[in-house]
Amino acid sequence: MNTFVHSFFLNMIDFRSDTVTKPSKEMLEFMFSAEVGDDVFNEDPTVNFLQQKIATLFGKEDALFCSSGTQTNQIAINVHTQPGGEVICHYDSHVYKYEGGGIAKNSGVSCRLLQGDRGRLTVDEIKNWLNPDDVHYPITQLVCVEDTANRGGGAVYDFNELKKIKSFCKENDLKLHLDGARIFNALIVNKIDYVEYASLFDSVSICLSKGLGAPVGSLLLGNKEFIKKARRVRKVLGGGMRQAGYLATAGIYALDNNVNRLKKDHFHAKELEKTFLELDWVKELTPVETNIVVVHLKFPEKRDLYIQKLKEKEILCMAFGPGMLRFVTHLNISSEDIQQTIKILHQIVT
Ligand SMILES: *Cc1c(COP(=O)(O)O)cnc(C)c1O
Repeated sequence: MNTFVHSFFLNMIDFRSDTVTKPSKEMLEFMFSAEVGDDVFNEDPTVNFLQQKIATLFGKEDALFCSSGTQTNQIAINVHTQPGGEVICHYDSHVYKYEGGGIAKNSGVSCRLLQGDRGRLTVDEIKNWLNPDDVHYPITQLVCVEDTANRGGGAVYDFNELKKIKSFCKENDLKLHLDGARIFNALIVNKIDYVEYASLFDSVSICLSKGLGAPVGSLLLGNKEFIKKARRVRKVLGGGMRQAGYLATAGIYALDNNVNRLKKDHFHAKELEKTFLELDWVKELTPVETNIVVVHLKFPEKRDLYIQKLKEKEILCMAFGPGMLRFVTHLNISSEDIQQTIKILHQIVT
């Protein structure tokens, strides 16, 4: 292996994100075995296989392999809306906050930003902000939900609330998009049947490069007509990849091998939560539900100092807004790493 490439992060326990995972030897070997073709011509058998596999798993008609979750979200928003329309989403949602203003730039729509509850929308709040049929208002066209909700500390939606949101959208001719970057983390907790869950949404975005551990790739799911339009938008955004089967194989490997083990990440996150609650420099935690731990510091102004102190001890975490740190568990963090982290956390003094 190219050990020189790894050197800086070699000894680090890296909690910054579940995107930092590296493919295992087994995954890499499987990638090398891929049969490929030109996917812009629809001729990559491995990409086609992956798309069919995920569509079947979630009971959707079709799917599209894309380069990132930002791309799948942006494509979905573009297909579901017309310029001048409005999207309802959470003020802290990825589609609004972390996609470089793409909603405005790519699709020319405005956002109605709701307060929600830990990154999750409620049907009652959505009802209040559906615009009336009146020339003064932009036409509300789409609702976007995020499950699990990243800024909510990996919060999982209540399935009944989602069902109510779906009914409301249907009654009012609104499309419903799921940013399911961490959909498997949600489904492992709420144990809802995949097909029943996905049936609520007109489109679903799923990341392969988060907890599932693939190096690249996201999938967009929907009906045939939607995916046909999505394929065109992907091309326009420069996202048509050629022998993408090498990347798609990693996704196939990830779906077959790395879904059930997410439970372990959740267990590790709970262990960290327990530890943080014992520390006197921690004010409180966002309740841990999945693989994201959000720590609220007693002395917010010292946030970067803590990040630095932890880095000196070879632990990496991320600033997550004023006075907050985020730790994300993933498949490159072992139980030994968690024990080591717990030990070091107890050594950090204010
Ligand atoms: C990571 C993430 C995405 C997609 O991010 P990319 O880095 O573009 O793949 C989308 N939504 C949420 C909630 C995410 O956490």
